[in-house]
Amino acid sequence: MAYKIVTDNCLSLCNGCVDICPVACIKIDTEVNINGKNQYWIDSIDCIDCGICLKICPVVGAIVAEEK
Ligand code: SF4
Ligand code: SF4
Repeated sequence: MAYKIVTDNCLSLCNGCVDICPVACIKIDTEVNINGKNQYWIDSIDCIDCGICLKICPVVGAIVAEEK
């Protein structure tokens, strides 16, 4: 399954992906990214690859396909 990952482009502010994910597989880590924000990540085991998070994310490149 080609799941998506959240990169350091994420500003960790809007929380839209977490709110909309139908299987609640987007997690917020206690570790911070290069922006000094909590790192968001996607649990690839539970992700159903629906693509909704990609469509609603306002930041280009914050969520990408795994192979990219
Ligand atoms: S692709 Fe769908 S299931 Fe996977 S993290 Fe995004 S919203 Fe959740
Ligand atoms: S929707 Fe995009 S910018 Fe907002 S928290 Fe999720 S990955 Fe970050």
